[in-house]
Amino acid sequence: MIRDALKDKKLGGANVKEEAFAKDKVLYYHFEPTLEYAWDNGVGIGIYLSGLKEGKLIASHCRKCKRTMLPARAFCELCYRPTDEWVQVRDTGTVETFSVARIHFDASRLKPGEKPTLPAVISIDGADAKMGILHLLDEVEPEDIYIGMKVQAVWRPAEEREGDIRDIMYFRPVKAAAKAAKKAPAKAPAKKAKKAKK
Ligand SMILES: [Zn+2]
Repeated sequence: MIRDALKDKKLGGANVKEEAFAKDKVLYYHFEPTLEYAWDNGVGIGIYLSGLKEGKLIASHCRKCKRTMLPARAFCELCYRPTDEWVQVRDTGTVETFSVARIHFDASRLKPGEKPTLPAVISIDGADAKMGILHLLDEVEPEDIYIGMKVQAVWRPAEEREGDIRDIMYFRPVKAAAKAAKKAPAKAPAKKAKKAKK
């Protein structure tokens, strides 16, 4: 074993101190790599994201298995063939499952009075079963949420959309959506309307 071989050997050398670099006492090379890269979303997700920017949910349809898949994808993973068409589905859906998160995403505790986050899997009307998307619920009390609840997307104003899943701010119960539509056009709570710019 190497450890045994080295056991009785005195290893030379000395610890290098920070000042040795400053005084050029050690040979070193400073290198800053240029790590620029671009990420291509691909055809399916690209269509899906540009649809979000226009306030549309775009799915893809496979004529062989007759499934409508959301998010849109370029090929059908069951038939292993390209999908046939892009179809717009509705922005309403049903809560498949949900959670009441009383901690933040970084596991820090909520401040007193701070509302829990309400992540949910929502199956979208017009897409096939098991095509639920993960998003957030709001405008609803945690105790009023139930599996099977009908919800509708609340979109960011068109000029703020960036082709991002956050172009939908959250989903709210269809009843709340109907009430809001009667009163005024959909308006975001002030703190949620702000979005970090790149
Ligand atoms: Zn198929």
